[in-house]
Amino acid sequence: MVDSIEHDLIIVGSGLAGLRAAIEAARVSKDRLSIGVISKVQVMRSHSVSAEGGTAAVLYQEEGDRIESHIYDTVKGSDFLADQDAVEILCKYAPLEIYQLERWGMPWSRRKDGRIAQRPFGGYDFPRATFAGDKVGFFEMQTLYDTALKYKIEFYNEWFASSLIIEDKEFRGLTAIDIPHGNYYSFKAKACIIATGGAGRLYSFSTYGYSSTPDGLDMAYRAKIPLKDMEFVQFHPTGLVPNGILITEGARGDGGILINKEKERFMKRYAPKKLDLAPRDIVCRSMMTEIEQGRGFESYGMKHLLLDLTHLGEEKIKQNLAGIREIVLKFVGIDPIDEPIPVKPVCHYMMGGIDCDINGKTSIKGLWVAGEASCISVHGANRLGANSTSECLVWGRITGEQAALYAMEKASFSLPEDKVKEDEKRIYDGIFRGSGKENPYEIRRELNKIMDENCYIFRKEESLREGIKKVRELYRRAWKHVDDKDKEYNTNFINTLELDSMIRIAEVILVSAYHREECRGSHYRLDYPNRDDKNWLKHTLCFYSEDGPKIDYTQVKLIKYKPEVRVY
Ligand SMILES: Cc1cc2nc3c(=O)[nH]c(=O)nc-3n(C[C@H](O)[C@H](O)[C@H](O)COP(=O)(O)OP(=O)(O)OC[C@H]3O[C@@H](n4cnc5c(N)ncnc54)[C@H](O)[C@@H]3O)c2cc1C
Repeated sequence: MVDSIEHDLIIVGSGLAGLRAAIEAARVSKDRLSIGVISKVQVMRSHSVSAEGGTAAVLYQEEGDRIESHIYDTVKGSDFLADQDAVEILCKYAPLEIYQLERWGMPWSRRKDGRIAQRPFGGYDFPRATFAGDKVGFFEMQTLYDTALKYKIEFYNEWFASSLIIEDKEFRGLTAIDIPHGNYYSFKAKACIIATGGAGRLYSFSTYGYSSTPDGLDMAYRAKIPLKDMEFVQFHPTGLVPNGILITEGARGDGGILINKEKERFMKRYAPKKLDLAPRDIVCRSMMTEIEQGRGFESYGMKHLLLDLTHLGEEKIKQNLAGIREIVLKFVGIDPIDEPIPVKPVCHYMMGGIDCDINGKTSIKGLWVAGEASCISVHGANRLGANSTSECLVWGRITGEQAALYAMEKASFSLPEDKVKEDEKRIYDGIFRGSGKENPYEIRRELNKIMDENCYIFRKEESLREGIKKVRELYRRAWKHVDDKDKEYNTNFINTLELDSMIRIAEVILVSAYHREECRGSHYRLDYPNRDDKNWLKHTLCFYSEDGPKIDYTQVKLIKYKPEVRVY
């Protein structure tokens, strides 16, 4: 018999989305529900902690900003693939979340008059990235964690969730490994919110933490819930060369500029109005074009451009960009006060995710999804910077409330033991006790290389087809074994489980990208160089099957804004 733990509501993930959801569920139920939060890392190591630049919200209507303008900027930024009803909710509720965090103790940066400060960010018509120096995620997480501790929420830190248990299209529970002790458990719960974040570690040059792997996406995918719009992977223009650490867009928001080998501010040729603050997809493509046409630099064996902050002055850099100055000093020995920073486009965000309705509810009763793991979809084909942390907060609150109301009404049931056993067999017989000679870490590196080479910023049919073939070959190789047989803190075991989900989800991204024969947002096909609204103004849905991913499509919810040419 597998030991079982019972909660009314279980949340997988303790990033911004998971924590915000847990707090809301506890508030709505007045602490009457038993709530568990599972995270494979310590709460404050969730990737949200590294958000740097800001959280988008309209705070100053009296100074000319408008919710409608935030909606329009987001829809245009998304290359018209966002669902406009969802965008409306994001923009309407984001300001409330900023003030809510303020009441819980968030130390927002201030203007001279003492009011909350905001900085310009890419693709917006008004400075609406609300920030706390260049460590917005750290302070938001600290504020939420601190608040969560005031409620009756139980944290399972360093527990790895493995599979969802679903019966008759209803959520029943999940399976998990307690990493410090190495024991396998089942969790029974009436409702669940998946908030497992993004999967940027599929690429080697990436801003994400090591733990950002697609386990949550894969859990849903294996449970036959479709993944939506997975071809849209965001690259951020300014990844520090050579290691990919993020240099926040706030650096350009505060006046930094990109320059090429000819010391030219090249963005003026690609986005004459918004320049360096055009949306990320456009800036990344412009940078790659500069590099391909021979106007880049080369250091550490990497072609790159420069981000120049030197004209901002010491005081502004020390006050607003202290975190990135420290990173650049420590990792490449350059002081941005005196010298420009070497940068190159880097994997940064997944616009796609688990399919759900406007409230984050999936097709499975009792199961919600929030944050980067979800595809609601507010970002469409390209997310605007600062809109993700807003999304995590807004849908953390919505899903927390909805799941709590559902769990309070739901009658008790029993957990299907056969499914718990089935998953135990899958991970222990299939992986832990598996045999083979191939090093799973080497397979992970090969997978990264396939994604870097075959599914980066510029894509085409042959390379995507080749990528799919290579990923399928990789999956068949003999890597499903764990050499370290210890129980306690067996990271070898956990990394191999992560690899299992990485290979499956890499295939989903490649197959979704292969099928979309147009350019839209972050998905740029050299062989189909135009956006094609007649045939492709639709969301991709990717379904799991024994024979590989199956693709279908669903409508985009257009309300007010019809697709138009996207110039900046
Ligand atoms: C370097 C960086 C800077 C960024 N800066 C900004 C910014 O300035 N503004 C902005 O809006 N956005 C920014 N983003 C994007 C934004 O931070 C993320 O999209 C957002 O924080 C994701 O939050 P989340 O709650 O969805 O997931 P995460 O914070 O990624 O948390 C995922 C959680 O899921 C848990 N988990 C995952 N798999 C499992 C499993 N199998 N079992 C148990 N637990 C699991 C993890 O332990 C973790 O707690 C940035 C992203 C990066 C990488």
